[in-house]
Amino acid sequence: MMCSLWRGFSLPLTTSLNRRFLKCCRQLSRSYNIESCIPEAVAFQGVSDHSGLYKFSVNESDRFWGAVARQRLSWISPFHTVQNCDFSQGKIKWFEGGKLNVSVNCLDRHVHTSPERVALIWERDEPGTEVKITYRQLLELTCRLGNLLKRQGVRRGDCVTIYMPPCPLAVASMLACARIGAAHNVVFAGFSSEALADRIRDAQSSTVITVNQGVRGGKVVDLKRTVDQAVQNCPSVQQVLVAMRTENTVAMTDRDVPLEEEMMKEDVVCEPVAMDSEDVLFLLYTSGSTGKPKGLVHTQAGYLLYTALTHRYVFNYHDRDVFGCVADIGWITGHSYIVYGPLCNGGTTVLFESTPVYPNPGRYWEMVERLGINQFYGAPTAIRLLLKYGDEWVQNYNRSSLKTLGSVGEPINTEAWEWYHRVVGDGRCPVVDTWWQTETGGICIAPRPSDPEAEIVPGMAMRPFYGIKPALLDTEVGEVLSSNDSTGALCISQAWPGMARTIHNHHQRFTETYFQPYPGYFFTGDGAYRSKEGYYQIVGRLDDVINVSGHRLGTAELEDVVVCTIIIMFSLKAVMVQEDVLAQQLREMVSRSIAKYACPDFIQVVRCLPKTRSGKIMRRVLRKVVERNTDELGDLSTLDDPDSVHEVIRGHQRLR
Ligand code: ATP
Ligand code: MG
Repeated sequence: MMCSLWRGFSLPLTTSLNRRFLKCCRQLSRSYNIESCIPEAVAFQGVSDHSGLYKFSVNESDRFWGAVARQRLSWISPFHTVQNCDFSQGKIKWFEGGKLNVSVNCLDRHVHTSPERVALIWERDEPGTEVKITYRQLLELTCRLGNLLKRQGVRRGDCVTIYMPPCPLAVASMLACARIGAAHNVVFAGFSSEALADRIRDAQSSTVITVNQGVRGGKVVDLKRTVDQAVQNCPSVQQVLVAMRTENTVAMTDRDVPLEEEMMKEDVVCEPVAMDSEDVLFLLYTSGSTGKPKGLVHTQAGYLLYTALTHRYVFNYHDRDVFGCVADIGWITGHSYIVYGPLCNGGTTVLFESTPVYPNPGRYWEMVERLGINQFYGAPTAIRLLLKYGDEWVQNYNRSSLKTLGSVGEPINTEAWEWYHRVVGDGRCPVVDTWWQTETGGICIAPRPSDPEAEIVPGMAMRPFYGIKPALLDTEVGEVLSSNDSTGALCISQAWPGMARTIHNHHQRFTETYFQPYPGYFFTGDGAYRSKEGYYQIVGRLDDVINVSGHRLGTAELEDVVVCTIIIMFSLKAVMVQEDVLAQQLREMVSRSIAKYACPDFIQVVRCLPKTRSGKIMRRVLRKVVERNTDELGDLSTLDDPDSVHEVIRGHQRLR
């Protein structure tokens, strides 16, 4: 079904953007020198500019990745084979023979050179109460926790579930697992007890780490209580380590271990385990936007290298910069760009505990000023929300520290992109719309790195990262679309070190989902348009494409025009006009910007659209509502506000 939906889908999506092609975000080219930018390039003969380096990275993949892996990671013993991959079996192996420890790469080696450098800035819920943790302190926390986990019986190869908000002990818990050779399974601390129990059971964890309570947006959340409910249905769990985020005591059972108290009894030295490159580092469940979440498995060396390299070059991160990724550590964005990428690079990374509107909609920008954030990385859903509150909330604060602005998670519509660029970045910071997935481990398509003069087009991810070779495939006949100005299934045609290795306990689902739809390619599930210039633009998930009068419309396309979904359902910024007047305006806007046939038959205003906990619109649920298949809404465990679905259903029944 997915395939036929996409047949012949050639979309006029970028026409409105093309007209407004901005030649923005130029950097001075005077000092540009490929070797000062990526030192390994010295070894790559004939490479003198970005496009040469990109070509080298995909054509001479072994040489490229071999050199950067030797240069950027600290190995306990060297690898003998750069890659050993076979997409037909879903076999992905990198740096075989090599041994290393991820926590040593993220901590010890920086402690040797700059022990007092700040590793983490814990931006707590109340503004102005941030806590800074140096590399030396983070190593100590990690070692004590590693020793405690060992004392509690956690062994190499076990999987520890972490249910914590962003905080230093959460990062230390992840790194402690890595230090002793256990895998971690971080579950977003906003999930219900059932969703948590599902993930604990799937991972077969005997140990859970949590906090007594969380604090977010001025509200206290009883996280330990959620864990108590979850573990009732998880026979594998033998112990729950409880850290104290607030001073309130919570009921403790025989199974519970007071984390701070016990870890303070431990030694500050914990011998790192020599791990094979392909041992498991963590599992992480996807957002569940398209169906049942998948427990993707990432391994040690390749994942770490890929996150470090993308963090350095996509965001143009330099030593001593303060990197502000406001995602939650429970998502892949948090794993790769709060924890592993920045720490592997010896960077200073922000752990954001609050919300974009607490105590007011100026929170992000007040924080940027106070912490001197240089790179800010957020989600379109938050940008769209803040845009509604107006420019003043941004302009009240000094944002001169900002150098790069990033976006991730969903397509960023043009209005939000331009606001981000013009208002937040004062028109001077490159905006990098980064496309990637839990499966890809790190950013795969983004406007940077590139030649320093290269343009950035609003709302486009644009350019593949080093080593990434994207391909568009015709969804009907499965052939590669080689010309530009075409749209198809976004695939990647060769392996890269950051990609997921399997779905936990379901290798067959892994091969079926990612490698069988287009043999020889990794299939992303997303659709993309490649412009005349060769730039990529994500047009939405292939499942979300709508067939109207024989024409295929991507939801991103419609949303870019009206910021809503067909049968158009949307929520309003503010109630300013009558709904029927607005409906007429929308119809005119769609027919003008796309085509008459794209005009919606029904327009429904809703309080809020159903979204995942990570802020993505659950379009598959809207589709079921429209098809009147409300008995088959599918897995709703990752839904943020369950009432939103019932309201949409009721509203829709009234409409039709
Ligand atoms: P599930 O796989 O369970 O349905 P999910 O795909 O939402 O959940 P993630 O891995 O967190 O889980 O999200 C990756 C997806 O998010 C991508 O496949 C893509 O659809 C979307 N996405 C991420 N970044 C971008 C971006 N910059 N532009 C457009 N879409 C993006
Ligand atoms: Mg997905």
